[in-house]
Amino acid sequence: MTKSFSTKNADGKALGFSTLAVHGGEPRPKLGNSLATPIVQTATYTFADTQELHDHFQHKIEREEYGRYGNPTQRVAEQKLAALEGAADCLLFSSGMAAVTTALYAVLSHNSHVVVTDDSYRRTRQFLTQTLHRFGIEVSVVPAGDYQAIEEAVRPTTRLLVSESPTNPYNRIVDMERFADIGKRHRVKTLIDATFATPFNQRPLEFGIDLVLHSATKYLGGHNDLLAGAVLGSAELVDGIRSLQHVTGAIIDPLAAYLLVRGLKTFGLRIERQNANAQALAEFLAGHPKIAAVHYAGLPSHPEHAIARRQMRGFGGVVSFEFKGDLEATSRVVDGCSIPQIAPSLGGVESLIEQPALMSFYELSTEERLMVGIKDNLIRYSVGIEDSADLIADLAAALERV
Ligand SMILES: *Cc1c(COP(=O)(O)O)cnc(C)c1O
Repeated sequence: MTKSFSTKNADGKALGFSTLAVHGGEPRPKLGNSLATPIVQTATYTFADTQELHDHFQHKIEREEYGRYGNPTQRVAEQKLAALEGAADCLLFSSGMAAVTTALYAVLSHNSHVVVTDDSYRRTRQFLTQTLHRFGIEVSVVPAGDYQAIEEAVRPTTRLLVSESPTNPYNRIVDMERFADIGKRHRVKTLIDATFATPFNQRPLEFGIDLVLHSATKYLGGHNDLLAGAVLGSAELVDGIRSLQHVTGAIIDPLAAYLLVRGLKTFGLRIERQNANAQALAEFLAGHPKIAAVHYAGLPSHPEHAIARRQMRGFGGVVSFEFKGDLEATSRVVDGCSIPQIAPSLGGVESLIEQPALMSFYELSTEERLMVGIKDNLIRYSVGIEDSADLIADLAAALERV
C-alpha cells in the first residue's frame, strides 16, 4: 500500500484546514499515477493464491476482501474526514441515518437506557423512541441545554447520551464540555450529531465527546448530489461500529465516496462563505420589522451566543426565523423568494428554504406541532455560496410583498 499524505508539517504541527481538505487522507502516488482519487467500482477483490488468503486473515498484509467490508475510495474519504475532525478513525455509511442507526445498535443492548435531547433530528428520536424501544431499550427525552435534566435522567443502565449542536431547526448550542463532563462522571458514552456545525466550525472530540456523527449529505458533500453518513471517534469505538456495519451492510458506494472526496476539496472555502452569508442574512433579519425572532448563534441576542463563541470557529449556514404572520402568510414569504428553492436538506452550495411545520411535520395539527416546539411561522433558510447581497435583496423583496 502507498503512504497517505502526512497531516503534519515539518515542525510536527497539524496542517491547516483547507490543506487537509484538499490533500488529507490521499495516498501518494495513487493507482496509475492518477491525480484524482480513483473510483474503485468493484464488488469483490481477488487473491493471488491461498497463501495470500492466510496472510490476510492473519493480518500480515493490508488489503481489501469484499465490497461490504470496505472499498479503497471509501478509505480515502474516511481518512480525509478523520484528518479534518482530528479523529483517530472514521467510518462512512450510505446515509446519515444509516450512521445513526448502526452506531446506536452497536452501543446499546437489551435493557440499556439512552438519554436524548429534544430539538434533535426527528428521525433519530423516532428510531430511539419507537424502534429501539421495541427491543427493550429505554429512552429519556430531555430539553436541549438543560444539563440538570440530562444529569437527573441518567440511570445505572444508561449507556449513551445523545445530542446535537447546533440543533435543528432552532440552532440551540450545547456546551460540549459540560455535556462530555456529565458522561465522564457517570461513565456513560457521549455522542454529538454535529451535522450543522461541521468540523470546520466545531470539533466535539476536543471537548471530550466520545463519538461525532455527521450526515455527510449536507455540508461535507456540499453539492446536494450524494447521500452519506459518518461516525468518528477512537479506533476502539469506531471499530466496534465497523464490525456491526459488516453485518448490517449500510455501506457507502464507491461513487458516493468519490463525490464526497471531490466535494471536500472546496470544503474550507464553502463553509467560510456560508458562515459569512448566514451571518449577513441573520443580521438583516434581526433588524426587519416583519420578523418576530431570528435563531442564529452568531447574533449576540442568541441565548447561547457566549458558549458558541467559546467552542465554535463560525456559526454555520442555517438561519431559522419567525415571520410575523400565520402559516399561510409565512408560506407566501417562502414562495416569494426567487433564489433559494423549496426542498428538504441543507448545507449545499445552493440555498434552500423551507417551513418546518409543512416540510417535516405536515401530518400534525398546529397544536401538536407546538407541543414539539415547531411554530407555524418558522422558516429555515440554508444559505448557499451565492452572493449575500443577492440573497438579502431577494428575501427583502419577498418580505415586502406579503
Ligand atoms: C439530515 C440529517 C440527518 C440524516 O442524514 P441523512 O443523510 O439524510 O440520512 C441526521 N442528523 C441531522 C442533524 C441531519 O440534518
